[in-house]
Amino acid sequence: MGIVVQKYGGSSVADAAGVKRVAQRIVNTKKAGHQVVVVVSAMGDTTDELIDLANEVSPLPPARELDMLLTAGERISMAVLAMAIQNLGHEARSFTGSQAGVITDAAHGKAKIIDVTPGRIQAAVDEGAIAIVAGFQGVSQTTKDITTLGRGGSDTTAVALAVALKAEVCEIYSDVDGIFTADPRIEPRARKVPRISYEETLEMAAQGAKILHLRCVEYARRYDMPIHVRSSFSEKEGTWVVKAEDVVQESSMEAAIITGVAHDRSQAKITVVGVPDKPGEAAAIFRAVADAQINIDMIVQNISEAKTGLTDISFTLPQGEGQTAMTALDRVREQIGFESLQYDDSVGKVSVVGAGMSSAPGISARFFEALSEAGVNIEMISTSEIRVSVVVAEAQIESAVNAAHAAFELGSDEIEAVVYGGTGR
Ligand code: ASP
Ligand code: MG
Repeated sequence: MGIVVQKYGGSSVADAAGVKRVAQRIVNTKKAGHQVVVVVSAMGDTTDELIDLANEVSPLPPARELDMLLTAGERISMAVLAMAIQNLGHEARSFTGSQAGVITDAAHGKAKIIDVTPGRIQAAVDEGAIAIVAGFQGVSQTTKDITTLGRGGSDTTAVALAVALKAEVCEIYSDVDGIFTADPRIEPRARKVPRISYEETLEMAAQGAKILHLRCVEYARRYDMPIHVRSSFSEKEGTWVVKAEDVVQESSMEAAIITGVAHDRSQAKITVVGVPDKPGEAAAIFRAVADAQINIDMIVQNISEAKTGLTDISFTLPQGEGQTAMTALDRVREQIGFESLQYDDSVGKVSVVGAGMSSAPGISARFFEALSEAGVNIEMISTSEIRVSVVVAEAQIESAVNAAHAAFELGSDEIEAVVYGGTGR
């Protein structure tokens, strides 16, 4: 049997008891005959606590030092996990990202993996040891400084190592049993999805479903590495993320058109009021936003009023970037000639995702009818081939998710979803 890469998230190794439980699971996998490589996240909320600490000593922690600090979280968990495994009588060796050969670019806080040279990991498993690798970190090819891959980056470490080691599967363990048709925290009737395509998972993750790190799914898709998303708190089979051709329906039921409903509370909306309706205005507005390095999502431009020749343009962006965007736009207000700016951060996004919708008419109508029956007002709409998203008031997100979930008959008859741990921070 070949190599299995297992990634355990922070909630799975939140304390000593969790570490011991995970150690036993890893040993069981080893005893079943696999070579095991483990990627581990920082224990519990350690990363958040380290960020809080940095902010206490400096209003703007230097990126290089912040990365050095944050990688300490994963170093703690890898070392204690290796100790716990050794205590069970099996050899385990821990490695930092750099020792594991995770080579990145130099972008601190959001480094991209450019190469993986896992010679030491391969040697460790060939010698019969279990290799434990610190997730979410690497070393820059150019500066040789320690980097981090961005929040939640351990998933990406796991998939990248699985690809480089030609593993059979990359198992990602968290505190839920897999990928659900909606967040079980707000939709109690959410159902576990047995198999889902990389593309649908990407859309779900991009639309706010906190299931997997977006880049880990992109990476898995590029190299066709199957991901098994499951809980470290149960023995249940989780969700397999595989290529679209491999998403076979195990029942004779008609293929589901909608796979799931995702929501995102982290959105804000900016409206540029009174924009002259002439060529170049939208270009100038979005150039200013782009130059401030802000990633925008949906855009809506109203038709202009005939008598004034003015129009409004609204767009959404991550809440954390709202202030920067407002400042950047305010600076060009006179030059562009719009009237004013409005900022609203009490909005959220709800999306229905499903590969089947590209060939099924009426999805938007059904979605919008369900929202209207639930009394939810739609502020903006956007679509892709396999997704329909709406922006709604933040207070209506839950009603919107529940309404969409029911409208597409995604609910199960019994409560399937168990959230085992984690503070959800
Ligand atoms: N510990 C890091 C974080 O909390 C990386 C991870 O969990 O994947 O973002
Ligand atoms: Mg974490």
